[in-house]
Amino acid sequence: MEKNNVCINCFDMLNNIGGSLNLNETEVDVLTKPRRSFTFSFPVIMDDGKTKIFTGYRIQFNNARGPTKGGTRFHPKVNLEEIKTLAFLMTLKCAVTNLPFGGAKGGVVCDPKKISKGELERVSRAYVRELYRFIGPETDIPAPDVNTNPQIMAWMLDEYEKITGKHAHGFITGKPVELGGSQIRDISTSMGGYFVLREILKQMDIKSEGTKVVVQGFGNVGMNIAKILHEREYKVIAVSDSKFGIYNEDGLDIKKVIEHKNEAKALSSFQSAKEITNKEILEIECDVLILAALEDQITKENVDKVKTRMILELANRPITPEADVILAKRVIPVIPDILANAGGVVVSYLEWVQNSMNYYWTEEEVLKKLEEYMTTATGELEKTCKNYSCMMRDGLYISAINKILHVERLRGVLK
Ligand code: GLU
Repeated sequence: MEKNNVCINCFDMLNNIGGSLNLNETEVDVLTKPRRSFTFSFPVIMDDGKTKIFTGYRIQFNNARGPTKGGTRFHPKVNLEEIKTLAFLMTLKCAVTNLPFGGAKGGVVCDPKKISKGELERVSRAYVRELYRFIGPETDIPAPDVNTNPQIMAWMLDEYEKITGKHAHGFITGKPVELGGSQIRDISTSMGGYFVLREILKQMDIKSEGTKVVVQGFGNVGMNIAKILHEREYKVIAVSDSKFGIYNEDGLDIKKVIEHKNEAKALSSFQSAKEITNKEILEIECDVLILAALEDQITKENVDKVKTRMILELANRPITPEADVILAKRVIPVIPDILANAGGVVVSYLEWVQNSMNYYWTEEEVLKKLEEYMTTATGELEKTCKNYSCMMRDGLYISAINKILHVERLRGVLK
């Protein structure tokens, strides 16, 4: 098979479930070749007056179900293959949650922690100047991802509107509320993850009160899921940020942990908890391990040390494919990223809808709609897993791929 422009990781992922779906060569081609790939270099004048060339990417993977949708990450390790894989996962994520979107992802190779605010703004605006002809409310809609936030979305929106000469709030999601953003977008990924976890525990007949939870990652997503679960009587026994973890087997008072983290800018030295390393946090005995940091956290090297009953993937791809196979053998269920963290893109969709109506919903209304989308998708997953007797990841891939191929057939792309 001709491998040009193929997403290698996607090809491997499909290979793993290909048997259950009986995909033919054309279908595999349609599913593994991104429709449009952009790689570009752009100059930015830095604070010292010198010019620096940045590299950017945008992959519009598949637009059969609607405009492509996906975030933009700023990270030193961003590369084309990673962006392709994440754009493929966005395509599946939007199908799993029944959003009328295809999937995309973008990124800039840079370390936002090492550049000034002014430089960050110039990088964000320059990124939009490179892409504005190919993105827009009806084509491809960016959003936040790793290291990008509502302020960056506001700069990007402003640049797009300046170039096109029109207001276009639906060009980008994850904006500040005052600029067309949606209520609860900031906590949407964590809230969505909570709804999915609640439904899965119900399906497994496990009571949520007292369920012992460990959260790896204490950025926006990790902090909010810890808070949401703590408020609902789950017992959060350990959390960690990029430097340290803290552990108390009787449960942490998450409200106090957040106050401490905001004041001390670190988790360490929090009283009434033991300090642990980032490696140790993954090895704590618990009911639910929540991965809310970065990719590749559980690998074939550390998977045997994991002692949880279940994993919730709030980050994208936190478990390597090899480790995933071992977890399946050990019968540790994994609630996969494309469902567990889909709350972000669901509320992005609701933001885009509000932008097109120019009418805005209350917090309660958005929350209720998010809950509906997440519980429906979790219910569909239960049915697929029963029909195909498979684990959750395969179940999600199978159902998403069936939905995408169905639309490709309706369009006449596939016969
Ligand atoms: N970056 C988020 C994700 O990976 C959100 C994407 C969006 O809202 O478009 O799901």
